[in-house]
Amino acid sequence: MSSIFLSPPIQKIHNPLADHLSIELYVLRLDLIHTCINGNKWFKLKYNLLEAKQNQCSSLLTFGGAYSNHIFATAAAGRIFGFETIGVIRGEPTLPLNPTLRFAQEQGMKLLYCDRQTYRQRHTQEVQEEFKKQLQGSSNQTFIIPEGGGNLNGVRGCMEIMQDIQFFDIICLACGTATTLTGIALSPKSRTNLPTGIMGFPILKDARFLEGEIDRLITDYLNSNLPTLVNHPAPWQLIYDYHFGGYGKVDQELIKFCHQFHQEHHIPLDYIYTGKMFYGVIDLLKQGFFPPSKILLIHTGGLQGNLGIEQKLTQKRDNDS
Ligand SMILES: *Cc1c(COP(=O)(O)O)cnc(C)c1O
Repeated sequence: MSSIFLSPPIQKIHNPLADHLSIELYVLRLDLIHTCINGNKWFKLKYNLLEAKQNQCSSLLTFGGAYSNHIFATAAAGRIFGFETIGVIRGEPTLPLNPTLRFAQEQGMKLLYCDRQTYRQRHTQEVQEEFKKQLQGSSNQTFIIPEGGGNLNGVRGCMEIMQDIQFFDIICLACGTATTLTGIALSPKSRTNLPTGIMGFPILKDARFLEGEIDRLITDYLNSNLPTLVNHPAPWQLIYDYHFGGYGKVDQELIKFCHQFHQEHHIPLDYIYTGKMFYGVIDLLKQGFFPPSKILLIHTGGLQGNLGIEQKLTQKRDNDS
């Protein structure tokens, strides 16, 4: 199953200030492992797909927002690995479909829409049965993947992100559900000498609840029957100052930063996740936050989402003028 994926290159970025401070910056390019199923989303899907196959389920049901990288990746994975896919999309349908949902539909994903209140109940058996009922004519066994692939299978896959990585003092990544951070914290390759260790940059506003979620996910994983490589997690911390107003929110400064970074380093960044994290790391660098160290920035992909954000910004500009 993994054979169609490239192993992600690590790219050094040259930054005069970092050089001056004896700091080495590297980027792990998970955005390059596959054209459609890329970034951390492949790692979060992998063991869910394997469990679905083992359970002889021929269709996958999952959830996401209208610009979701997870919906995009699941639709592509379904087509490539032979699953029917159903995406439950939060909110009202809007036509024409945005680029994310258009792609998902082209891959064969069936799209169901659901109001925000029902969406919040998506974990309950009642609501899940309701969705299954809407798939009339489909007698297939359906495997349910939570939003963003945020379950223990997701954690297990994300442990593999660090598999072939050499030693780094600090590992930085963007966080939504922090499933990816949890997997990285449970990898023996993430041991560092610094108390700062793994630095997660939540892209949600008011994300303090994530600390409890991460603790719970770590405990659940270590108490599960899934394979473990360590007895306790590597030290991690969350940096709350770079959410830019919350999920899907961007401003001109962030967009400018992403464009400049792309030009200077030939690495495209997505506005929703990696752009915010990279912005935060460079800002902390300027503040003298980091000691002399080797820092790994994980590019978790998500570039498909930029099309939708750019479309929204253009529409807003047209409406404003
Ligand atoms: C989904 C996603 C994340 C967040 O991953 P979590 O495991 O939910 O923290 C980060 N970056 C990108 C590009 C994503 O698509």
